[in-house]
Amino acid sequence: MAQTASMQHSEISAIDADAVLDWYDRHARDLPWRVSPADRARGVKPNPYFVWLSEIMLQQTTIAAVRKYFAAFTRLWPTVQDLAAAPLDDVLVQWAGLGYYARARNLHACATAVVVHHGGVFPTTAAALRDLPGIGDYTSSAIAAICHDERVAVVDGNVDRVIARYLALSKPVREEKPLVRATVQNAVPGRAGDFAQAMMDLGATICAPRRANCLLCPLEPDCRGTKTGNPVAFPVPPAKAEKPRRHGHAFVIRHPDGKVFLRQRGPKGMLAKMTETPGSAWGDVESVVSLPFSGDWRAVGEVNHTFTHFHLTLTVWSITADNPLDEGWWAEETMLDSEALPSLFRKVLKTAGIR
Ligand code: SF4
Repeated sequence: MAQTASMQHSEISAIDADAVLDWYDRHARDLPWRVSPADRARGVKPNPYFVWLSEIMLQQTTIAAVRKYFAAFTRLWPTVQDLAAAPLDDVLVQWAGLGYYARARNLHACATAVVVHHGGVFPTTAAALRDLPGIGDYTSSAIAAICHDERVAVVDGNVDRVIARYLALSKPVREEKPLVRATVQNAVPGRAGDFAQAMMDLGATICAPRRANCLLCPLEPDCRGTKTGNPVAFPVPPAKAEKPRRHGHAFVIRHPDGKVFLRQRGPKGMLAKMTETPGSAWGDVESVVSLPFSGDWRAVGEVNHTFTHFHLTLTVWSITADNPLDEGWWAEETMLDSEALPSLFRKVLKTAGIR
């Protein structure tokens, strides 16, 4: 396949930003946090709170999954001031299911910082935005470009893929980040926000992970990937490191009156402060179960779950008993939706026949 990794910038076909914007003007996706290119041209400004919230939610999650969370958050907390004033526990409950809970805590910390240090107004430059909790290079660039047309490169996973194909990179994208970034940066036009969103949309709809609809693509005339005849061979995948598997036990204690015993996880580490069913520590090897108290425990199944860095298998044990453990609470089954239960523990409860 294709080009050398030592491709010089002078060899790179520049991206035709006008063609990209022309395509975006006709095909921009309609998203609840987005101002359409037509409205943008009429002077309508994007709401930085909405853009920030959507970008944080979209990290490693799809738009389809984010829509309902975005709707719920903006209904409960229409402004950054409202979100900052909300109890963290309420934010965690609403976030449950989106994963990456450190992000929810940072979300709340960031809203607080915007209110306390910036009078409730998000900073307008990427550099200033980067000082806020949970806002890194990508998110700061996205907000500054989309809301204020700062001419910065906005490179998410979709854009990585588009550029890897456009340049027919022979190495994995993560080894060619500076080149990808420079290629985008060199192209950023005055309509920086629309261009950023256009490139994201191209990656999401035309130059998609498993298919490339090159005939509809504004980058087609200069795209090296399409000229190879097999553009989806790019980006070249990185060598895969095998994810380790961890093991543990989960204990579902059902009160005779139907309530379920839950507790809060510790303040540090995985899923910190979220709600869980009691359970063992997670280890690298399967351990003999140490049940929290004696009784008629039954092994009711296994739950498999994948985190970013490891797979987890939990053996689920269930009992009907009224023994509470030291710390925790009895939760009504009908109220489980309002508990900050991550998907892992919802799976555990389901395996025990609860909801
Ligand atoms: S021409 Fe094809 S491979 Fe190249 S960027 Fe467009 S959709 Fe992707």
